[in-house]
Amino acid sequence: MGVLIDIIVGARPNFIKVAAIVKELDARLSEDFGISYRLIHTSQHYDKKMSGIFFDELNIPSPNINLNVGNIESSKQMATIIARYSKVLATQKPDMVIVCGDVNSTIACALATKKTDPKITLVHVEAGLRCGDCQMPEEINRILTDSISDYFFTTSRTASENLINEGVSPSRIFFVGNTMIDTLYNNERKFKKPSFWDEYGLESKKYFALTLHRQSNISNAETLGALLDAISEAAEHTPVIFPVHPHTAKMLDSFGIRPSSRIIMTDPMGYLEFNYLVKNARAVVTDSGGISEEATVMNVPCMTLRNNTERPETCTVGTNMLLGNSPKYIFSAFEKLKAGEWQLGKCPELWDGKAAERIVDKICDKLLRPQSEKHTILKLKPKEFGEVKYNTIFLN
Ligand code: UDP
Repeated sequence: MGVLIDIIVGARPNFIKVAAIVKELDARLSEDFGISYRLIHTSQHYDKKMSGIFFDELNIPSPNINLNVGNIESSKQMATIIARYSKVLATQKPDMVIVCGDVNSTIACALATKKTDPKITLVHVEAGLRCGDCQMPEEINRILTDSISDYFFTTSRTASENLINEGVSPSRIFFVGNTMIDTLYNNERKFKKPSFWDEYGLESKKYFALTLHRQSNISNAETLGALLDAISEAAEHTPVIFPVHPHTAKMLDSFGIRPSSRIIMTDPMGYLEFNYLVKNARAVVTDSGGISEEATVMNVPCMTLRNNTERPETCTVGTNMLLGNSPKYIFSAFEKLKAGEWQLGKCPELWDGKAAERIVDKICDKLLRPQSEKHTILKLKPKEFGEVKYNTIFLN
C-alpha cells in the first residue's frame, strides 16, 4: 500500500516554498518509491497575479483540489478553509499533511487535519520561526501550527532552538535549510527583465525596490503615508519601484493616499521578473520576511520596515537591517547605504538549494517508513495513488 501526502498551499509565499518540494517529490515519483501526493490549494490568494503566475513560472502542477475560498474576511476565510478541507479529509484520508509558512491556510489546514484524525502525521515546513510579537497575525499562526505539528523542518538553528525551548523533542526537529532559497537557485537563470524596465528607463543598481503589506505598516493612514513620504524623500532622485500587494492597494485607495511620482507603483509581479528586479536593485525596502531572505542570498542590501524579525540570520549573517517604521531610521539607513557602509551578505547555514531534498529524504526514511520495514517500501507496486489522475476538484 502506498502512502498519500497532502501538500497545502494558499498564499503567494506558499507557492514559492512548495515549488521545490513538489519538484523533488516528482523526481522521485518516477522512481516508483511508493509515495504520492495531492496538492490542495485553498485559494486564499486566487487570481493570476497572486497565484496562477507562480504555478506557470515555477512549474507547479495544477492543484488536485481547490477549496476555492477566495477573498473573504479573515475569520470567515479560516472557518471556510477548515470546513472545506475537513470535507476532503473525510472523503480520503492522507497519511501525512504538509503545511508551510505562517499564513491563514497553514493553521486552518493544520487544525482541520488534527481535528479530523490526530493520527494523521502533520508536518510543518519553516517551523519554529518566532519574532516575539503576538500582535502580528503571522506569529499567532506560527505558534498555533507548531503547537499541533508532529514533525518540524526548520530553516535555521535558532528556529530549532525556539522549538526545543517550547518543549518539542529534538528528535522531531530537522534543520534542513530553506526551500524558498531552493526555488531561488532553481530559477535564477530564468529571471527576466520586467516588462516596464525600458519604459521607466531603469538601470542596474540605480533604483530601489519596495514592497509593503504587513498590517502594522498599512492599516493606519498616518503610518502608511509617513512611510511612503520618508522613502520617497530618502531615495532623492532615484526611482523606487513598488509592486503593490492587493491589501496595500485597497488601503491606499481607502485612505486616498497617492505616493510621490518618484515611487512607481506597479501590479504585483511574477516571480521571475520580481527577483530580477530585486537582484539588480540598489537596495530593497520591504516588510516581507521572504524577500529579506532572498535579498540576503543575492547580496542586495535590505531595509526591513519592522521592529523585529523571525529570521534573525538575515540580519546577523545577511544584508538585512531592521528599521521599524520611523522615518528617522529610514533616513539614516539610506545615508549608511550611500556611504557604502552596508553589511555584505553571506549565505546562512544550509541555504544551499538542497532543503527540499533533505525534507523528502527525511519523509521517506524517518517519517513514513517504520524502521523495521526500512527497505520493503522500495518493493511496493508502482505508485498506488500516483496512478490516479486527479483533475482539479473545486469545492463550494
Ligand atoms: N514576490 C513576487 N512578486 C512580488 C512580490 C513578491 O514574486 O510582486 C515573491 C518574493 O520573491 C518572495 C515571496 O513573493 O518569494 C514573498 O511573498 P510575500 O512578501 O507576499 O510574503 P512574506 O514573505 O512576507 O510572508
